[in-house]
Amino acid sequence: MLIVKKFGGSSVADKEHIYNVAKRCIEDYQKGNDVVVVLSAMGKTTDRLLEMAKDFNPNPSKREVDMLLATGEQTSTALMSMAMGALGVPSVSLNAFQITMHTSSRYGNARFKKIDTQRIRHELENRKIVIVTGFQGINKYDDLTTLGRGGSDTTAVALAAVLHADSCEIYTDVEGVYTADPRIVPNAKKIPEITYDEMLELATLGAKVLHNRSVEMAKKYGVQLVVRSSLNNAEGTIVKEETDMESMLVSGVAIDKNTARIAVFGVKDTPGIAFKIFDLLARKNINVDVILQSIGREGTKDISFTVARDDAEETVAILEEHKSRITAKRIEMNDTVAKVSVVGAGMQSNPGVASRMFEALYNAGINIRMIATSEIRITVLINEEDVEKAMRAVHDQFIED
Ligand code: ASP
Ligand code: MG
Repeated sequence: MLIVKKFGGSSVADKEHIYNVAKRCIEDYQKGNDVVVVLSAMGKTTDRLLEMAKDFNPNPSKREVDMLLATGEQTSTALMSMAMGALGVPSVSLNAFQITMHTSSRYGNARFKKIDTQRIRHELENRKIVIVTGFQGINKYDDLTTLGRGGSDTTAVALAAVLHADSCEIYTDVEGVYTADPRIVPNAKKIPEITYDEMLELATLGAKVLHNRSVEMAKKYGVQLVVRSSLNNAEGTIVKEETDMESMLVSGVAIDKNTARIAVFGVKDTPGIAFKIFDLLARKNINVDVILQSIGREGTKDISFTVARDDAEETVAILEEHKSRITAKRIEMNDTVAKVSVVGAGMQSNPGVASRMFEALYNAGINIRMIATSEIRITVLINEEDVEKAMRAVHDQFIED
C-alpha cells in the first residue's frame, strides 16, 4: 500500500512530538508499505515568521514573505528525517523545488497546477520514507509560493491524488471532526463519517480541522480522507462521497466570527443595481456571502450582505466611492455580528430543519438578523455576543446525547 500521512504543526511542535510521529510512520513502513509524510511547520512557527516579517517591514513583499514562510516546513521535514535516521530507518526530506510541485504564481494564496512524481517514486523504490514540505510550491518564475494558511492539508491530498495513494491520513491534535467545537459545546460528538460536501461547508465556515481547498480537491479526485489524532489510536472521521448516515439530519454546527454586515440603504428599485454593487466588489476580489434585499418602497430598496471582517473597511470605501453610481443614500457597516450554521446532507430530503433551528434560537432569546440557505446548510447571522449560546442551543436541538 502507498500511504500519505499528514501531520499538523501541533503534532510536530517539539523533539518529543517529532519522534512520536517518526515512530508512527516507521510502523507503517515496517509493515512493507510505501510511506509519504507531509508536514506543517513546527508549532506556531508560521505565526512567528509572519510577525518577524512585519517587524522588519510593515508592508513586506509577498514574494519575500513566501520565501520566509517556506523555511518553516523545511525545518520540520529535515528534523523529521534526522529523527528517522536516528531510529535506523532510511528517509529523505524533499521540498517543493526538489519534487517540483508547480503552482500558480499568486504568492500567499497559490494553487497547485501540476506535481511531478518521478523523484518521490524513485525514493520510494529505494525503500525510503519520503518526507515532504506541506504548504509550499514553485511558480513559473521558479519562486517559492505558499498555499494559504492551513495549506499543508492540500499538499497531502494533492500528493495522494497524483500518487494514487491507497490512503490519505490527516493527523491533528483532535480525534476527528466534531458535531461542534468541543471547547464551546462540551457534549459535542465525534462524527464517524461525513460527506465531502458537508465537510466543505464546515471547513469553509471556519471549522478549522481541514483546509477547505483540501476538501475540494479530495472531492474532485475522489481521495478518501481520514482525520485522526496523532496522540492516540482512536478511530477518526472518514471524509468521503457518500456516507451510511442518511439518518443523521444534521452532522454539525459551525460558527464563524470572521464576518461583517454591510447595509446599502435607499438604492433605486430598478434592474442592474445589485449587479453594479457586487460587480464592484468582485473586481476587487471581495467575497460576498449572505445577501438580503428588502422589498421595495417608494421606488427604493435596501441591500445588505456579509463579507469577511478583513474586507469590511475596503468594501465600505469602494461603495462610498461609487455611491452615486449605485444610487445609495447611506452605507453602514457592523462588525459585531457572527454566523451560526447547521450542516447536514439529510436536510435535502427532510423539511423542517430551518424551523427547528429558529425555534432553538427563539427559545434561547436570540435575534436573527439575516438567513441564508444551501441544499445542505442553513446559516443565520446574529450578534457576536450571542454566538456561543446560539451554538449550544442549536446543537442541543439537533444532536442527542
Ligand atoms: N504552516 C502553515 C500554516 O500554519 C501551513 C499548515 O500548517 O498547514 O498555515
Ligand atoms: Mg491545519
